[in-house]
Amino acid sequence: MIKLHNTLTRHTEQLKPTHDKQVSLYTCGMTVYDYPQLGNWATYIRWDTLVRMLRESGYKVTWVMNITDVGHLTSDADEGEDKLEKGASREGKSAWEIAEFYTQAFLEGMQQLAITTPDHLPKATDHIPEQIKLLQTLEKKGYTYRIDDGIYFDTSKLSDYGKLTQQKLEELRAGARIELNPQKHSSTDFALWKFSPHDKQRHMEWDSPWGKGFPGWHLECSAIAMHYLGETLDIHAGGIDHIAVHHTNEIAQSETATGKPFANLWLHGNFITVNGTKLSKSLNNSYSLDDIKQKGFEPLSLRLLFLQSHYRAQANFTWKGMEAAQRRLRGLQAMADLRWQYVKENQLSVESLAEAQAAILASLQDDLNTPQALTSLSQLEQIISQHLVAISQQAQFEDLLSFLDRLFGLGLLYSKDISDDQKILITTREAARLAKNFHEADQLRERLQMQGIYLRDTVHGPVWYR
Ligand SMILES: [Zn+2]
Repeated sequence: MIKLHNTLTRHTEQLKPTHDKQVSLYTCGMTVYDYPQLGNWATYIRWDTLVRMLRESGYKVTWVMNITDVGHLTSDADEGEDKLEKGASREGKSAWEIAEFYTQAFLEGMQQLAITTPDHLPKATDHIPEQIKLLQTLEKKGYTYRIDDGIYFDTSKLSDYGKLTQQKLEELRAGARIELNPQKHSSTDFALWKFSPHDKQRHMEWDSPWGKGFPGWHLECSAIAMHYLGETLDIHAGGIDHIAVHHTNEIAQSETATGKPFANLWLHGNFITVNGTKLSKSLNNSYSLDDIKQKGFEPLSLRLLFLQSHYRAQANFTWKGMEAAQRRLRGLQAMADLRWQYVKENQLSVESLAEAQAAILASLQDDLNTPQALTSLSQLEQIISQHLVAISQQAQFEDLLSFLDRLFGLGLLYSKDISDDQKILITTREAARLAKNFHEADQLRERLQMQGIYLRDTVHGPVWYR
């Protein structure tokens, strides 16, 4: 049984997909105007883990994630500049070039962090007709109005607007940012289509029944999600910062258009802090993946760091935490290296491997409890490193590593054997040690260390790790 915490009901609920063992999942994707930073990566790693858990549990998942390459303004509430056009003037390129460049950077980062490629990864600009069509439906139903800078959704016509935040309309209105557009009927009303400015040529603009312009950011997610997954999604996931505006507006326009629930389960990932502080450009703590790599860390250590905290809890990033995560990753890799060092026999029961596997999956099925799953994994790692793996357990051990890679994406099966020369060094060093020729033994151990191979002596003989 899979349980997930539904923001819509504030309850942890059993997953009941519309179509038995098939799950439709939509997650809000990257706005490609700059390098993704820690908060973005945490979000994508969390939803990737959700997909991995569902697939391991026997569900056929169709995962759609959009790429926002137009329409996301510097304020989520329809004010300010288009982030893409802003990026373009910052770098002296066109908005199209900016989108292309940062989409590539995003895709490369996804690969390095072992984030599964979604089944569909469509760009907003590839779905302009679907967005126009959705707007036409809303217009026909009488939920839109036109002002000087665009077509807006009239939130006062909905009795349940804001149900995702469980706030009343008045509260939401009071909480909305200072109103910059006096023509809007209400501060919660949001742009569905914005007109190109009269005084400036936009890089990205399209003809529409209402005039030249570009779609609103919220509209893109609704149109794309329903285009690929149908009118009601099993799961919609995103960051906690999207509850009040972006997802609230996705619900408003989708449910108005179809008369059906837009998503049955809404999942939200919490914020990332750095040294306990919110990420911000001005504090210079919005680290990118390159910043992490330049400090000598592997991308997969960052992946592990984020998995150590529950998606609904704030995760705190520190460089010390990164060091600990990298050590933890090394420990798991050392466990995987045992696939090249099977021993004749040991005290490890095959049943305990199967039990640990079941416990790990059960933790993830319980509202994606990654910290608990990793605690079970650490216990398993300790037992295995103590007992080592017997040749008769080879098949089960390889199965276990492959299971762990499917769920956590830490690449344990990438573990390669050492070279024949290194094996000879180990045998020679062991012979020296047994002959009590400790000076020679130490020298050989140092030679191996220079090649990144470390030894520990066990009752079964020396075991190497990297
Ligand atoms: Zn979205």
